[in-house]
Amino acid sequence: MSAPATSPTSMVDVALVGYGPTGVALANMLGLYGVSVAIFEREAEPAHLPRAVHFDGEVMRIFQSMGLAEALTPHVHISKGIKYFNTAGQLLLERKPAHEIGLHGWANNFLFHQPDLEHVLRQGVARFPAIRTYLCQDVVDVSDAGDHVELRTRDTISGVEATHQARWVVGCDGGRSMVRQAIGPHFEDFGLHQLWLVVDVLLSREIDLPDATVQICDPSRPITCVRGTGRRRRWEIMVMPGDDPQTIDQPDTVWKLLSPWLTPQDGQLVRRALYTFHSLIAEKWRKNRLLIAGDSAHQTPPFLGQGLCAGIRDAANLGWKLARVVNGAPESLLDTYQSERHAHIRAFIQEAVRLGSIIQTTDPQVAAARDQAMLRTGPEEMVNLSPPLGPGLHHGGAVAGTILAQPRLSSGQLLDDAIGKGFALIGDVPLDPHLAARVADICADLVVIADGALTPWLKDAGARWIVLRPDRYVFGTSNRPDELEELLGSLSVALETRRQQHALQA
Ligand SMILES: Cc1cc2nc3c(=O)[nH]c(=O)nc-3n(C[C@H](O)[C@H](O)[C@H](O)COP(=O)(O)OP(=O)(O)OC[C@H]3O[C@@H](n4cnc5c(N)ncnc54)[C@H](O)[C@@H]3O)c2cc1C
Repeated sequence: MSAPATSPTSMVDVALVGYGPTGVALANMLGLYGVSVAIFEREAEPAHLPRAVHFDGEVMRIFQSMGLAEALTPHVHISKGIKYFNTAGQLLLERKPAHEIGLHGWANNFLFHQPDLEHVLRQGVARFPAIRTYLCQDVVDVSDAGDHVELRTRDTISGVEATHQARWVVGCDGGRSMVRQAIGPHFEDFGLHQLWLVVDVLLSREIDLPDATVQICDPSRPITCVRGTGRRRRWEIMVMPGDDPQTIDQPDTVWKLLSPWLTPQDGQLVRRALYTFHSLIAEKWRKNRLLIAGDSAHQTPPFLGQGLCAGIRDAANLGWKLARVVNGAPESLLDTYQSERHAHIRAFIQEAVRLGSIIQTTDPQVAAARDQAMLRTGPEEMVNLSPPLGPGLHHGGAVAGTILAQPRLSSGQLLDDAIGKGFALIGDVPLDPHLAARVADICADLVVIADGALTPWLKDAGARWIVLRPDRYVFGTSNRPDELEELLGSLSVALETRRQQHALQA
């Protein structure tokens, strides 16, 4: 529900600063758990700049957990892969098309139009009466008052200011985050900062262009071409030393740059923007009641198409933890958010920087040596990364802290749909009545799934039982009843579940 914000709101559990992809994803997550949320966004509409075009199978699985996968499906298409070519048209590196169902129960890679995605996610938020959105509200100050946070907003149309209160504030406010400034402005910098021109074209007729995403590793002008949904096409064009950044985005110059593929008769320039691609991770993601997520916490160059994905994963990791803390779990649970997510996003940023160093090579001799080395071994295959979480709320063992696959159960139902939004105990045979009673006594809100279709995953994990977290990462595994009781006992202690059962079930 959207509302004017010129008068103070009553105290909410969580205030979100910023309603971009990360903010709207986190709002959906919190909404599922009944948390009261106020969202403050300075713009009247979702951003119209050309930005994300790709998300992966894990992100689709997160949308599934929000109950939005079905609404999104008509707005996405499955990726036809990525091909890195050198100037001579030789294939250096490729990611195969994502036709098959992958680890997450969905195709591994999807392409989409960001405004469509944001529209569906905002419709998702409208399902929750405890969430209010305040548009055209610039958050100009956040101050931690110990047991709550005060936010000062300025209406971007009338200039009227108001003060609001929230128990927790999450800055989903992008690369120039003011919440990050309040937490601490330091970054780990991976050293890639490069200016690119990004152009979105709406074709007026069918044109023979590649179906796969193509990365042209030409040292005189690196270029990326992406097939969007419908007749949308994306070109990302590296700004070279001789270019004038003031004029390179003018239509005449853009059409000249696109001339190997298109003429102005073939389509319309829908959006043009200059971006400096960064590779950064903020040093601190939480200070008492302030947290950050998405681009405010980390930025990656888009060579893997993972910046938005990382923000959605932040929402999946932080959403259930914040909901638990709001309902009485120890606040220290929130510290596992950065410690777990930091290592994960780091792996993606490092890989994106590596890919950037391949495509962004501008020295012809270095490019020739690159080609020789890559051609000698044959085209390298890009794999879909699925790194483990960093240290946090998981209990050791080989698969703890990794994401579990999402198979279909014997009934045909997807595993996550059977689990719902809480913790789960996964096995392939029913628990004996004594153990079932013990499990219920230790962790009453645990969903127990016993299904023969899970046997291969249990075998891979070397376990009889797997305890899964709400974000589908493995908390721990066990092979013996006493081990299982101990594992669940440690979970119960970590979450202080007994104290929360009533609150979460209400
Ligand atoms: C060219 C390009 C291509 C990309 N391609 C991909 C891709 O294919 N796949 C992918 O996963 N990622 C991609 N990305 C990255 C992706 O776009 C970003 O990571 C993602 O948009 C970040 O979302 P966010 O919600 O964290 O931040 P943002 O999208 O920046 O949203 C922040 C929001 O906060 C609001 N805000 C800021 N300050 C305030 C304030 N003080 N008060 C109120 N509101 C405020 C802003 O108005 C904005 O709406 C790409 C990026 C670029 C530049």
